[in-house]
Amino acid sequence: MSSPMPSTSTQAACSSSCSFSDYAEASAQYVMRSVQTLRSVVEAAAHSAGNCARLIGEMLRSAENTALTILKKLGRPIQNEENIAVQSPQAAAVFSNPNYRASPVQILAQIARGNRYSDVYSLALAISRRRRRITDWERGDLIGKGSFASVYKGYSNEDGFFFAAKGVSLKEHKSLCHLENEIAILEGLDHENIIQYYGTLNDGEMLYIFLELVSHGTLEQAYKNCPFKQSQVSHYTRQILLGLKYLHSCKVVHGDLKCANILVTESGRIKLADFGLSRSMEDHSQSLKLGLGSPFWMAPEVAKLKRVGYGLPSDIWSLGCTVTEMSTRKYPQYNARDAFNLHRAIRSGKGPVVPDYLSDTLKEFITQCLQPDPKQRPTAADLLAHRFVNESS
Ligand code: ATP
Repeated sequence: MSSPMPSTSTQAACSSSCSFSDYAEASAQYVMRSVQTLRSVVEAAAHSAGNCARLIGEMLRSAENTALTILKKLGRPIQNEENIAVQSPQAAAVFSNPNYRASPVQILAQIARGNRYSDVYSLALAISRRRRRITDWERGDLIGKGSFASVYKGYSNEDGFFFAAKGVSLKEHKSLCHLENEIAILEGLDHENIIQYYGTLNDGEMLYIFLELVSHGTLEQAYKNCPFKQSQVSHYTRQILLGLKYLHSCKVVHGDLKCANILVTESGRIKLADFGLSRSMEDHSQSLKLGLGSPFWMAPEVAKLKRVGYGLPSDIWSLGCTVTEMSTRKYPQYNARDAFNLHRAIRSGKGPVVPDYLSDTLKEFITQCLQPDPKQRPTAADLLAHRFVNESS
């Protein structure tokens, strides 16, 4: 900041040739400028303090909301873990004091300390991994039918909670094998971009898997109803990548990634679904019984080597095909005349046609996913840094 103080030379000049009133006026102006500078400094400080206070307020509000959600979750029946005591004896003593006014965050901290959790974060993590117990339920309308399973709306008679019940007949050996594989995979997963698993039921005729209900349907149904803008494709792709990054960190290959196997909620949240053909890279016991994914989205190494071709990079190839599908509203096009030529084209590693009218950023993203050599393909984590998926955020 430059000082507005009258200089020594001005003072010297004033003392020899200026009157007292000239000097007083110069000094008064200096004082005025100093006051103005100070005022702007104070205003800037007040403004930053206001922003900081607002930010802290927002953080606290969001912490309170999270705490309230966790407290609600604690109040409902959950399975697969020992009970959490909602109030420890120490907490009960504190809460019974009528003068005690605790915020939800404070209550949660008490609950965490009164149990075996070191802090609220580990308590929240444990709760999020728990399963909802669905014992008394009704099967509602059919909401979808795949090649293996039928999916119904279900609701719990205990608390009116709605969910999806995906079922296969116990007599259908192949379908049963897919559903059992899906159960084994989903049991170990917990991520907001992966369909939530609530449990299973064998009623003597059917095997059901209970899942989070996503009422807005698949991405395929969504783009058929209404073409996606590039910003929307970018937004969805980012979430698919977050789900894939988590899945791959658990050493699981989805194996059949395409718009028909990705669900979207009303608020635009993406849920990867249909893990019937998924493979754990650490446990190969199920893999040999499973078939292959859909040909249009299939990586060349899978088309060539069949089951042993699957790996984390084969999902990245399918992602490239899925993004092309979302952007063009068509299955990936190979310009093949028949099924024989289609398989030959896929095995050759040429990849589907990427239309020229797509933006350069989008084409570049797809091209990276469709590298014929699986070792050259980026990982889901690498792709999350790509410009295309950071356009919408
Ligand atoms: P595929 O033929 O791809 O192997 P599948 O027999 O394993 O299919 P899904 O694709 O899982 O069955 O489900 C069939 C349809 O049911 C989906 O296309 C979707 O419309 C609907 N669906 C599946 N899961 C849910 C869910 N959790 N919430 C709402 N709808 C769902």
